[in-house]
Amino acid sequence: MYKYLFGPVPSRRLGMSLGIDLVPKKVCSLDCIYCEVGKTTKLTLERMEYVLFEKIKAELEDYFAKGNPDPDYFTFSGSGEPTLNSRIGDVLDFLKEKRPDVPVSVLTNGTLLYDQSVRASLLKADLVLPSLDAALQGSYDKIDVPADGLTLDKYIDGLVEFRKEFKGKIFLEIFILEGYNDSDEDIQALKDAVHRIQPDRVQLNTLDRPGTVAELEPASFELMHEIAVKLDYHDVEVIASSLHRRDLLAFRTDVEAVILETIARRPCTLDDLAAMLGLHINEINKYLDVLEGEAQIERVLLERGWFYKLKKKPKLH
Ligand code: SF4
Repeated sequence: MYKYLFGPVPSRRLGMSLGIDLVPKKVCSLDCIYCEVGKTTKLTLERMEYVLFEKIKAELEDYFAKGNPDPDYFTFSGSGEPTLNSRIGDVLDFLKEKRPDVPVSVLTNGTLLYDQSVRASLLKADLVLPSLDAALQGSYDKIDVPADGLTLDKYIDGLVEFRKEFKGKIFLEIFILEGYNDSDEDIQALKDAVHRIQPDRVQLNTLDRPGTVAELEPASFELMHEIAVKLDYHDVEVIASSLHRRDLLAFRTDVEAVILETIARRPCTLDDLAAMLGLHINEINKYLDVLEGEAQIERVLLERGWFYKLKKKPKLH
């Protein structure tokens, strides 16, 4: 079992992706209300070697030595904001040296791109997927809860600068939350920001796992499609339903089975499952997503958070 590598996991946006976790849970520059990892416990803009480069390198060397098949992508993602790790560029260089043919993607909130050294460290990536959930200060503060000093202008200007310097692809994710960032003013401001940033693609996404605020509801596909039209951009994609994940090549039925067996014994939280099964929470989340979509499991909100349990089958008369 690795501590910093997870998967390969079936990802809605990247196929089979080997995750590389560069920060511990939960170091981030934002504390988004929809975060599926949990609440940010270290809200910061300070870059440090949160996970030592040598430790990540050792796990990758072991992964390669074991003859594992190459994933579709190596992806920096995981328990927080990966660009907060000051050695992200070194990990990227190492991957490019060892597996030059496997593309590297970076799932980032994009907030640190105002920093020239962060932009420089990502230049060798193939695909960067930053997010921007709001372009009005009030909505941004409400949804993303930024670290002190992280103004919206600084954030958007960083994305604009990065687009000018980066030769790879940029897919900008906008997370739609009904009642939070779907007003006409919000969409107009987002449209202006998107047209300034000029990403290769905009991806509209919504909640499929519980966030840190209990009452959040996913946006409907109708609303997402409406917003896609209003953005009036040449490439806008509404992310497909999570149920398609099962169709991905390496959806592991053994992992699915062990999750089902565990929660059949007693309801568990995401953290319980991660501790018991030794799997990364992001990995478990992908499977819970499919199982919930297929109505095999359900969740209940108790004092310690969301618990997952098998869904009772309706009685037949
Ligand atoms: S930026 Fe990502 S990791 Fe950080 S709080 Fe938001 S959703 Fe969670």
